[in-house]
Amino acid sequence: MQSGSEKSAIVVGGGVAGMSAACSLAESGLRVRLVERRGYLGGRASSYRHPGVDETIDNCQHVLFGCCTNLIGFYRRIGVLDRIHWTRSMTMIEPGGRCSVLGSTRWLPAPLHGLPSLLAAKALTFEDKRALARAFRLLMRPVAPESTETLGTWLRLNGQTQGAIDRFWRLVIASALNADIDEIALPYAAKVIRELFLNSAEAGAMGMSTVPLSELYAGAERHLKGHGGEVVYDAGVEGAAWDQEISQWTLSTRVGEFAADYLVLALPFEAMGKLAPGMPRAEGAEALAAQIERHEHGPICSVHLWFDREITELEHAVLLDREIHWMYNKSRLQPGRKGKGSYLELVVSASHRFAALSREEAIELAVREVAEFFPAVAEAKLEKAALIKEVRATFCVPPGIDQFRPDAKSSPWPNCALAGDWIATGWPSTMESAARSGHLAAEAVCAAMGEPRRILNEDLKPRGLMRWLGRR
Ligand SMILES: Cc1cc2nc3c(=O)[nH]c(=O)nc-3n(C[C@H](O)[C@H](O)[C@H](O)COP(=O)(O)OP(=O)(O)OC[C@H]3O[C@@H](n4cnc5c(N)ncnc54)[C@H](O)[C@@H]3O)c2cc1C
Repeated sequence: MQSGSEKSAIVVGGGVAGMSAACSLAESGLRVRLVERRGYLGGRASSYRHPGVDETIDNCQHVLFGCCTNLIGFYRRIGVLDRIHWTRSMTMIEPGGRCSVLGSTRWLPAPLHGLPSLLAAKALTFEDKRALARAFRLLMRPVAPESTETLGTWLRLNGQTQGAIDRFWRLVIASALNADIDEIALPYAAKVIRELFLNSAEAGAMGMSTVPLSELYAGAERHLKGHGGEVVYDAGVEGAAWDQEISQWTLSTRVGEFAADYLVLALPFEAMGKLAPGMPRAEGAEALAAQIERHEHGPICSVHLWFDREITELEHAVLLDREIHWMYNKSRLQPGRKGKGSYLELVVSASHRFAALSREEAIELAVREVAEFFPAVAEAKLEKAALIKEVRATFCVPPGIDQFRPDAKSSPWPNCALAGDWIATGWPSTMESAARSGHLAAEAVCAAMGEPRRILNEDLKPRGLMRWLGRR
């Protein structure tokens, strides 16, 4: 058996999945080459210089939570965890500006830690609160993964009021899963509720990067180089050949060929579907293609506005009853940004209607709506604006989707593991799912080398009363 240090791996795709696979493989002693189609790392969670506004902006605000143990493990590995700003409160604002703050207290054990703020929320009626408390109680125990119920059906069967559905379930939960309540499998929604609101205050703490996203990944490139690896940019992979005699992969890319002992394909399902015909014939390749066919994606749009003055002191907020769902105050969240005024990012999840608007229409609607929440907008001058539409933002999680999410180890090809947020991780389309998939793929490679290792980070354990109440 050869030791890891004599073996090499190519990881295709420089998103969170590929970076986390590459960095953990390099740390396990392999020589790793991370091959990325674009000129920068990050994939669907990245930042770049936007020519229209001459600013470096994230393709969209990305948030993480304390329960994202693999993403946090990846950030820790590449030395950027201190760039994440954490908060335990979420402000809901009604048109007109009335605020309700959901948060946690230290003096009540989980799952009761969020109860006082829920009871105090002015945005919800007494009936809404009673309905939510009932739903939370029912969702304390995990829902069987094979459940075929949608979130929408479950909410209607379990007495949820229109206010609770519109102001909580649609805005907070469905927007986190980027789909309509009638298209979300109940187990995924229940997982989000348990992790964000019930298991512990730590699990539900929300994190946001204090630097543009791609700046985080300089740490990944440094980490790889420090372990004898490299990143190859602008190198879209077009196909791969496997030489059985010498047990080696050769990849054809736009910038030449690369060879390695092991391969990790860390691609979104659409890109995996495009690459598959360029891969060697293999038993199981058709089954993988059939799984890919079953996936669909949902859009997320973000409107970026620069005003000549401060609009709000809030760092972020959920905007109720309007087309725009979330406000992120980037001037406050990313203090390294220059300029006197303020930069707000407004996010709209799961809205095909918003995604169909023209740039002018989308910006006009965003400015009009944001003014309903923050009166300072009426006096302020809008200096510049940008719209980013990510049509293929996340994969959807309808009932039954788990049977079409392949395992990291179940690639049809030899010495090849699969990664990407859509791989079977049990998590919805998130950076955490991507990081988990990368860690699972790295474990699969190490196991195939005959040097099995535990790379996956452990889940946070439920705390307080949830240690007993949350058991299946
Ligand atoms: C607008 C938006 C908002 C989001 N908000 C959140 C959020 O708040 N929190 C959260 O956790 N998640 C969020 N997500 C989801 C999150 O971004 C993704 O789940 C995650 O980044 C997926 O990572 P990945 O590595 O699996 O795939 P990707 O990020 O898609 O990475 C795949 C990489 O492969 C490269 N590639 C493709 N084809 C080839 C090829 N042939 N050869 C070489 N390279 C190739 C691509 O260029 C890309 O860099 C959001 C996504 C979007 C788009």
